[in-house]
Amino acid sequence: MGEIDPHIHVERSVVRASAAVRDVLASAFGLVADPPSRVTTGCGIEVPYAMTSPRPESVTCLACREHAHREHLSFADQVERLSGMAGSTVTSEQGAAAAKHHRDLAARFAA
Ligand SMILES: [Zn+2]
Repeated sequence: MGEIDPHIHVERSVVRASAAVRDVLASAFGLVADPPSRVTTGCGIEVPYAMTSPRPESVTCLACREHAHREHLSFADQVERLSGMAGSTVTSEQGAAAAKHHRDLAARFAA
């Protein structure tokens, strides 16, 4: 391709890309994810990992901002549901805090 893409994107799995979530997944499920060198973005292209960011203020690709907005909202709903389930390693309070965190992020991506 060789085209220069000046935009900063989000990873398609933007929620999992955040370090905090990575830690939770690692401790809850034993998953350890190293940042890959190239990633698929929320807008469906492949870019170097360095051209992505989980920080709303850094992401300049509009399609990726919309993608991240939706992903964080749906994750917030999901974590709230899961945290209330029997046998969950996440308490309702932790679930509520995580949901709030992701709703805040969603709002920042929509801004
Ligand atoms: Zn993008």
